[in-house]
Amino acid sequence: VSVFANISQAPEDPILGVTVAYNKDSSPHKLNLGVGAYRTEEGKPLVLDVVRRAEKLLVSDISLKKEYLPITGLADFNKSSAKLILGSDSPAIQENRVATVQCLSGTGSLRVGAEFLKKHYNQHTIYIPSPTWGNHPKIFMMAGLSVKTYRYYDPATRGLDFEGLQQDLSAATSGSIVLLHACAHNPTGVDPTLDQWEHIRKLMRSKGLLPFFDSAYQGFASGSLDADAQSVRMFVADGGECLAAQSYAKNMGLYGERIGALSIVLTSADVARKVESQLKLVIRPMYSSPPIHGASIVATILNDREMYHDWTVELKAMADRIISMRKQLYDAMCAKGTPGDWSHIIKQIGMFTFTGLNPEQVAFMTSEYHVYMTSDGRISMAGLSSSKVTHLSDAMHAAVT
Ligand code: PMP
Repeated sequence: VSVFANISQAPEDPILGVTVAYNKDSSPHKLNLGVGAYRTEEGKPLVLDVVRRAEKLLVSDISLKKEYLPITGLADFNKSSAKLILGSDSPAIQENRVATVQCLSGTGSLRVGAEFLKKHYNQHTIYIPSPTWGNHPKIFMMAGLSVKTYRYYDPATRGLDFEGLQQDLSAATSGSIVLLHACAHNPTGVDPTLDQWEHIRKLMRSKGLLPFFDSAYQGFASGSLDADAQSVRMFVADGGECLAAQSYAKNMGLYGERIGALSIVLTSADVARKVESQLKLVIRPMYSSPPIHGASIVATILNDREMYHDWTVELKAMADRIISMRKQLYDAMCAKGTPGDWSHIIKQIGMFTFTGLNPEQVAFMTSEYHVYMTSDGRISMAGLSSSKVTHLSDAMHAAVT
């Protein structure tokens, strides 16, 4: 008999569980819109051409080693990642006020940031938007922070609850940490305008709230790396401090390589050095040092002018295909005359559409039409293709009528 005989069966992850159910379905019409990973028009995963080229270069390099990286990761990768999110001309970088460490994709970067804050920051409350990516509350709770929410999404307008957001941040204890999605808010696809970001920035700075940006979709939202980093750069331009977790899962298609970075922008080079030294003490007992392959791919691409350019072209093509899927789905709903206003499909930003469908309607679409998505009605536009738009709009029409 096992010493774990009394253990209970844990539930599937609410997001990854959608794919488990999809894989069990034998229908030829099945459609997986649950997973947040890019698919081609043919429904296939995509490895970017520029990533293949970088890998070929790496493999043919006879000096290639499999030595351990430093605790903080690959130095070239860290420098280029900070430039990518903050801008290559960022004064914070020039003044050596940024501590950057390579981490295990976006999730690992958030977790290392959270562990650091728990150990070295005097406020342990983090405000996250309602709703947010399902893993956020767990990441911060497991690091020992206390999680509260701020209003973000208004179901009535399927847009930003800007009033509610401002009220909740105004009422937050001074010094609290606030999680902000840099762009392409997941799951709602609703982002503040630049004008609204400026209000949020002023409000947060006046209250001494500490911004923690989650940047999982830079370049994926608009097709422009710079445009999608504007929110973060506004907060850095005022000279104040912030944290930013970056992921290369979506924008370089490096999902399983688990490659990302945590940057902490500080007010002086002296503090940045000390913060970096403490980040090492956080990382060492967790996983000692990060993996080398993904970091080498990213550093190769970011440090070669031609490859960088080719990456931006491939990135824009992914963003454009997603935007085109929004248009096609919206047009199909209009053509059908499905009751309700569906303009949010084209207004929302990034990988996901927050359809407004309720859990019963989602369950109906899955059982009757073999369309898989999370129960909150979130669909991945990246999982859709032109040939499946009719099937999806049929399912949505049937679900609401
Ligand atoms: N933040 C958000 C908002 C996300 O949507 C994701 C990916 N689903 C992540 C972080 C982290 O993903 P990863 O760890 O794969 O980079």
